[in-house]
Amino acid sequence: MKEIHSNINIIGGGLIGAVAAYSLSKLGNKVVVLEQKPKFNNKKNLDKRTTAISEGTKKFLEEINLWNEISKYSEPIKKIQIIDRYQSNKIYFDNQRRKSNLGYIVKNEFILHCLYKKLQNQKNVEIFNNVSVKDIFYDGNNIITKQNKFYVNTNILLASDGKNSSIRKFFKTPIYRKDYKKKAIVINFYHAKNHHNTAYEFFFKNGPLAILPMQNNKSDFQSSIVWTNTNKFINSLFSLDDKKIISILNEKTQGSLGEIKKIITKQTFPLKAHLNSKFFENRIIYLGDSAHSFHPIAGQGWNLGMQDVESLYYLVKKYNSLGLELGDEIFCKEFQKDNFFKAYRLYQITDKVDSVFKLDNTIFNHARFSAINLIEKSKKLKNQISDFAMGVN
Ligand SMILES: Cc1cc2nc3c(=O)[nH]c(=O)nc-3n(C[C@H](O)[C@H](O)[C@H](O)COP(=O)(O)OP(=O)(O)OC[C@H]3O[C@@H](n4cnc5c(N)ncnc54)[C@H](O)[C@@H]3O)c2cc1C
Repeated sequence: MKEIHSNINIIGGGLIGAVAAYSLSKLGNKVVVLEQKPKFNNKKNLDKRTTAISEGTKKFLEEINLWNEISKYSEPIKKIQIIDRYQSNKIYFDNQRRKSNLGYIVKNEFILHCLYKKLQNQKNVEIFNNVSVKDIFYDGNNIITKQNKFYVNTNILLASDGKNSSIRKFFKTPIYRKDYKKKAIVINFYHAKNHHNTAYEFFFKNGPLAILPMQNNKSDFQSSIVWTNTNKFINSLFSLDDKKIISILNEKTQGSLGEIKKIITKQTFPLKAHLNSKFFENRIIYLGDSAHSFHPIAGQGWNLGMQDVESLYYLVKKYNSLGLELGDEIFCKEFQKDNFFKAYRLYQITDKVDSVFKLDNTIFNHARFSAINLIEKSKKLKNQISDFAMGVN
């Protein structure tokens, strides 16, 4: 059987694996990507979700020369309104202070499109689609994966194969997990009023409803809703015809975007979170959702995965410049030290924010109302919250 040698073998060419492949190949490493799905341009496989890209992620995308391309498809967020049940109870954010945007909304399919276009021109990257790893061996120095028709022999393996990572299962890496027993429905739609680059997050008893401003399609205003609710509710909502869904959404969005005119796409996702007990095994690094996944309440999962990629990029750069082989124990431990706590913190924050807004009795409602009022009036608190959301703290 054919054997391919690489410095870096990446399992999973999704939103994290593809950025890792591109950034690490730019440092001169030979990279192999093994992706189980067919070639990216297969329309049926496209993810219709949008991602809110933080300012921190944007800076790293600039550093590796990807932002120019991605920004063509992105819509800036200039204002955010956090609304607890009703419009009268809200916190308002803008970013006059830092003179930058609060984030950027891009369709996932566009991010992947940009990445795969760039990857095609990287001579030191080989991408294999429609492949899955059948076996993995560690010979004390290298990691070898066996696929149907070939082996890959590498210094370091990056597992970026998503939240159900088969690499993690193979190595039995323990994880903490939480099943919210809820789903999110993601609906892209046209609406009557200009969104003026405003994102909204409504907090309801059964979960948040976020409205994210998308790029206009010619003269049509476009946005995306991410609505979390019980499995039962989301399943029944999804089964309704579009006219009925639109009437429910019109009521829930409280006129923020004028009338909702047409649903473009809709998809549902189960809500589960997890955190690996460690982010490495022998010569294996877990990246992105294979290491951690979160409640999407703050739209931070990919952004945190991008922080993993960024820290790996600088670690590899350091090792390359010292002429050291990638992936030894010190390397893996340094990656863990840089990234585990950040993921633990986000896991806790997203979980607690969800719990606080869920509570629905007179005492808690009053306390939450007072807290929202306090934040709205405190410049310092608002700045701290917006810096955290922007990934610049
Ligand atoms: C409703 C919702 C909204 C979200 N919104 C945001 C947001 O606004 N901002 C944000 O930052 N994050 C958001 N997230 C989180 C974000 O989507 C994820 O963190 C991100 O997609 C993780 O990327 P990934 O590449 O690690 O995993 P994935 O996107 O799951 O990619 C994994 C890849 O690995 C491949 N693969 C799997 N198994 C194998 C195998 N055995 N062999 C080879 N290939 C394999 C898959 O085909 C896939 O291509 C949201 C999540 C949800 C559910």
